[in-house]
Amino acid sequence: MTLSLRGAAQVLLPPEDGLPYVRDAAGMRLEPGSVTVRDGAIAALEDDPGADEVIDVAGGAIVPGLVDCHTHLPFAGWRAEEYEQKVTGVPYEEIARGGGGIAASARALAEASDGAVLAQARAIRAEMLAHGTTTVEAKTGYGLSREGERRLVRLARELGADRVTGLFAHAVPPGESPGGWMDAVDALAAECDVDALDIYVESVAFRNEDLERLGAIAAREGVPLRAHVEQFNANRSVPVALAAGARSVDHLACLHPDDLAPLAAAECAAVLLPGAELLGDEAVAPGRALAEAGAICVVATDCNPGTSPVLSLPLVVGLAVRRYGWSARQALLACTLNAAWVLGLDDRGSIEVGKRADLVVLDGPVEHVPYRFGRNPVRLVIAGGEVVWRRR
Ligand SMILES: [Zn+2]
Repeated sequence: MTLSLRGAAQVLLPPEDGLPYVRDAAGMRLEPGSVTVRDGAIAALEDDPGADEVIDVAGGAIVPGLVDCHTHLPFAGWRAEEYEQKVTGVPYEEIARGGGGIAASARALAEASDGAVLAQARAIRAEMLAHGTTTVEAKTGYGLSREGERRLVRLARELGADRVTGLFAHAVPPGESPGGWMDAVDALAAECDVDALDIYVESVAFRNEDLERLGAIAAREGVPLRAHVEQFNANRSVPVALAAGARSVDHLACLHPDDLAPLAAAECAAVLLPGAELLGDEAVAPGRALAEAGAICVVATDCNPGTSPVLSLPLVVGLAVRRYGWSARQALLACTLNAAWVLGLDDRGSIEVGKRADLVVLDGPVEHVPYRFGRNPVRLVIAGGEVVWRRR
């Protein structure tokens, strides 16, 4: 099966083939062109008049399939009532005392059947696809017990997530201490089949010493270490994560200025989550400074029922451009090639001959994605060489 996308006004291309990530987005090229895919892979950067199907994409742009490298799928239900409380001024402590927060999601998950959890996650996954997301990461974290976390690993696999991250250290379960629960995290890491390990370091969750310990556990298990850090406070977790060899540090709304240059110089991605920043009324991560210092910049939805019920990467691109002062190509790089590197998926994320044919056709130039904010610009989605979604 050969498919040609013919005559795009823009094709987003990396500075050269074979790069694992790109630090300087100015090197990303936007050129008019065509793309031909064959047997699931990108076969040529030109059109093939003899292709089985030729799609005219004149006036549009072809970009790599979007990669959402930080989501909290699968979860159960939503927490819209809490959002209304939050924006009308009810303190989080009061919401949490009333049984809200992560505890509410953990309770909803425990009460939901596997079928109900998967049905909700699949519906979200389908909406993500319609917004151009062809690769998605899923995390555990709402189990809050060893059995609950094992169940979430199984459900994330059943969902078909491209990567499953064990966020066993998400919240300290009631009656546990952070250090005591880390013993359970150690056991879960040893017994569960996950592609990475993650931790939430914050005053209300885990500590830098727990992050250091998770680094040792990840090294033992041979999986990448990721960490939620500096979301509400500057806990100085970034140097700890870098020393532990983390693949990514995520959030960074309160990144300490002294930690910016070491992070930018490291082979560790800065995963920024502007949806959570906006809806949680958090500080704004120093996205512009990180990009100018040469960090491996990434954005993701952080899709979760509490702080970021957001599933659209085009929307996240719009937020990143406005709030970080990025170009559209910088923001698109951050949710394609650089995001695929976070997940260790070097077969995708950029338009290169031989790579997996995950492609998104936009109905206008890439600069319209952030500019026409909140609108879905996706016209056609191709995953593994097949058309999987088409705008009616
Ligand atoms: Zn998160």
